[in-house]
Amino acid sequence: MDSQDNSGSGEGCIFCAIAAGEAPSIRVYEDEHTVAFMDINPATRGHVLVIPRLHARDLLDVSGDELLHVMSTVQRVAFAVEEALHPDGINLIQANRRAAFQSVYHFHVHVIPRWWDDGLRPPWSHRAGDPDELRELGQRVKTALDEGLARSQH
Ligand code: 5GP
Ligand code: ZN
Repeated sequence: MDSQDNSGSGEGCIFCAIAAGEAPSIRVYEDEHTVAFMDINPATRGHVLVIPRLHARDLLDVSGDELLHVMSTVQRVAFAVEEALHPDGINLIQANRRAAFQSVYHFHVHVIPRWWDDGLRPPWSHRAGDPDELRELGQRVKTALDEGLARSQH
């Protein structure tokens, strides 16, 4: 089975195994809800992954509460990376579905220390958007948000 199909239980999920201590990892932090460990293929020196213990496929699958716990650990790890490694900057990267480079289907946030000479490039170039299209797309997203808010009030 493609690991992209791995939703719900987390059966066969490498990050569930890491969270449970059943697969090896270089763990740097853990608490009741989250685990942080070194990425096995680091984009830069000090690349850390933060995951919820509970299996969720991606940002659209993780519960709001778990997301808050993960982001709190992300900031804690970022402070530690800053203190320990003194990077020139820090990127957070978070991928959802294969088209957005997700390769492990257990929600995670990358904490990536950055240095001026680390060779990483921005994933997009700054090109001015078409104002009409920006307005139209903004309106579509806003409508979805307004409808979502209206639904959550019922
Ligand atoms: P994604 O591409 O899904 O955003 O990121 C998945 C990350 O997990 C990759 O950067 C990859 O190097 C890392 N990864 C995959 N398998 C393992 C593993 O078994 N152990 C560790 N520590 N990292 C892993
Ligand atoms: Zn999992």
